[in-house]
Amino acid sequence: MENGRIVRVNGPLVVADNMKNAQMYEVVEVGEMRLVGEITRIEGDRAFIQVYEDTSGIKPGETVYRTGAPLSAELGPGMLGQIFDGLERPLGRIAELINNPFVARGVKVPSLDRQKKWHFVPRIKKGDKLSPGDIIGTVQETGLIEHRILVPPNKHGTVKEVVKEGDYTVEETIAVLDMEGDEVPLTMMQKWPVRIPRPFKEKLEPSEPLLTGVRVLDTIFPLAKGGTAAIPGPFGAGKTVTLQSLAKWSSAKIIIYVGCGERGNEMTDELRAFPTLKDPWTGRPLLERTILVANTSNMPVAAREASIYVGVTLGEYFRDQGYDVLVVADSTTRWAEALRDLGGRMEEMPAEEGFPSYLASRLAEYYERAGKVRTIGSDERHGSVTLASAVSPPGGDFTEPVTSNTLRFVRVFWPLDVNLARARHFPAVNWIQGFSSYVDLVAKWWTTNVDPDWKTMRDFMVKTLIREDELKQIVRLVGPESLAEKDKLALEEARIIKEAFLKQNAYDEIDAFASPQKQARMMRLIYLYHQLAQPLVEKGITVKQITEKITVVSDIIRSKASIKNDELQKFDELEKTLKSQFEQLSKQGA
Ligand code: ADP
Repeated sequence: MENGRIVRVNGPLVVADNMKNAQMYEVVEVGEMRLVGEITRIEGDRAFIQVYEDTSGIKPGETVYRTGAPLSAELGPGMLGQIFDGLERPLGRIAELINNPFVARGVKVPSLDRQKKWHFVPRIKKGDKLSPGDIIGTVQETGLIEHRILVPPNKHGTVKEVVKEGDYTVEETIAVLDMEGDEVPLTMMQKWPVRIPRPFKEKLEPSEPLLTGVRVLDTIFPLAKGGTAAIPGPFGAGKTVTLQSLAKWSSAKIIIYVGCGERGNEMTDELRAFPTLKDPWTGRPLLERTILVANTSNMPVAAREASIYVGVTLGEYFRDQGYDVLVVADSTTRWAEALRDLGGRMEEMPAEEGFPSYLASRLAEYYERAGKVRTIGSDERHGSVTLASAVSPPGGDFTEPVTSNTLRFVRVFWPLDVNLARARHFPAVNWIQGFSSYVDLVAKWWTTNVDPDWKTMRDFMVKTLIREDELKQIVRLVGPESLAEKDKLALEEARIIKEAFLKQNAYDEIDAFASPQKQARMMRLIYLYHQLAQPLVEKGITVKQITEKITVVSDIIRSKASIKNDELQKFDELEKTLKSQFEQLSKQGA
């Protein structure tokens, strides 16, 4: 492979000639500092290179070194609990190397530690015929995660040799396959080009909820394992808190948190907080199941562009092992802005608001990588990648290109509303604008595992909230006097739904995480209130009388922060009081 020569440098974009036979998306090393870059356009013998490191000081005439390989992620034991930059370079070890929290230019550090030994337990024997995706053996990587070492997607064959159980590095050969006469050594590490989705056998319809412990997300607009969600919201509406709730509490087995924003430093604060957090499902440290991909603020935009592909590739790799993975991206707006910046430098024709015309197709391709799948491999394994992304529309305008295009490709929409946030209604998810197309798909899980009336109760709450919205408009036009008693009851029920159920304090030890069982018990109380109040109103009892006499409502509202997930029997008491207060009122009324 002949080397190229730089002819032009424009920020993160470098143009080189003498690049005949270069491949799209080939990785190159630019200039004498050997900065990492990727070819994003080829014209004759000229290549346009997007460079992932600061190009200042790089001059025309310097060499561009070809690698012949696409931008790839290293996959294997040693990723969990790590913090990587947008090119999957481990920030921890780079800092040790150069004694600086930021990545120095041109520093080459492998993603996976080459010295560390992992305890490998083989699951195969000599003579076994292996297909792509078959499990060769396992490494108990952390207390939470058994890392399954798989035959890479492009390899297969008969086992000629396999090592004994023992400690090996990611570079040592653990097995040798005879692949149609060729000897193929396998290690615990594989590489995969990040822009190409990893293969699977079949996509399945998502049917299991991805629980988050946040009531408005789980019950009103549920997300499914293998699904897609967007969280748009203006500054201060609670995006970061919501994404962190997802990362901390969600029922996915593996969490990959991609911070592709300008808030590199903020992210590091969060990262420092992470090691102290515990997984609510198992009580183990959260880091044992988490990987962080963080662009530090001194990295150029191009690294942001790459980071979400690195994140989703790591996700697919754990999916292939049979795990449920959640990839959180914060935020795809910053990612799209990187795309716009690079497109501009390449002098492409801009489309809407300066974004490149391929913005929509890039977003579609990204969300297409979500899914619940039957994985490759001879045994029947299911895994999923769920994609949840923040969007930060300037001025909170949801019609701008990134938000409106994202809406076309996601199936859950959790819009954060600045007015709700100002009124201290958190999580500030707007219940009128939000949607989830997984409600019917996950209903079966809820009705089988938690409460047979889940769907009925959930629909009652949504209907009541929509009715409240309509009634508020009527009140605005003609005043509250015009409302019928049954409408006033709907307003009171909506108030209880908001106060008792939707509002949830992420900083309250008890309230921060509501188990599905707790959510159902709370919903049951609210529904019971409706079932008891409605016939009384029909009999002529006023809503004013009801609100005066049914004093237990304030306890119901408080129950979210007073009743723990493991003391749900306390809801029996509230139910009893609610019933007896209504009975009394009914007698008095009669
Ligand atoms: P954004 O990332 O959208 O700019 P943040 O996530 O930082 O906004 O939220 C801003 C503030 O709103 C937080 O500092 C916190 O005080 C409050 N907040 C957001 N969500 C919640 C929540 N679920 N519970 C309690 N407070 C919240």
